[in-house]
Amino acid sequence: MAGRTAVLRIGLVMLQGARHVHIAALQRAAEECNIEIEVHELRKASDLAAADPHAIVLPGGESTTMRLTGNHEASGLLPALFEWIRSDSSLPVLGTCAGAILLADPQDGGDPLIGANIDRNAYGRQSDSFQSPLKATILGRDFPGVFIRAPRFASHSESSSVAALHGEEVVGVRTGNRLALTFHPELSSDTGFHRWLLETATGAAT
Ligand code: GLN
Repeated sequence: MAGRTAVLRIGLVMLQGARHVHIAALQRAAEECNIEIEVHELRKASDLAAADPHAIVLPGGESTTMRLTGNHEASGLLPALFEWIRSDSSLPVLGTCAGAILLADPQDGGDPLIGANIDRNAYGRQSDSFQSPLKATILGRDFPGVFIRAPRFASHSESSSVAALHGEEVVGVRTGNRLALTFHPELSSDTGFHRWLLETATGAAT
């Protein structure tokens, strides 16, 4: 498969938040899957075109800060990124926590990138952050969930599927090749979701 031999370019949104742990998780995942990757750090709109990524990661952090930074004229990354993602429905995208909020509610006047409604900080305050095993239905196994001031999905569309469940609660939603998680997979030693992104991109990159 051509995609197996090519270097996979991963665009990582560097506006704020849990960026560097994602780099480490992507590199571990790449080694485990024997896929060669380059992580391209995205800070402004022009970084996106220069990177021409095969897959995108939107980390967690604080979505209000990310919106301010990413919509500022010095960056312009967020509007460019949302248009980039919309223009290719097969592009693999992983949004975690605040990244999931941005995908479900891009606030740029265009369609949501994930078919779900999401409520910010819906578990309560920082002290209501928690860890708990969850069912990663998309991976077909359990996964250690790390929830930090997490949002909650209020609903998801029929065109989307459940990617992860914490008890009865949906904590991961997949719309095509876009995956939104309300927890932080990069903070566990399990690289399953990052491997999913790379393997999906390898198929998409052929
Ligand atoms: N509370 C954050 C927000 O609303 C999300 C938290 C996170 O990404 N860990 O943007």
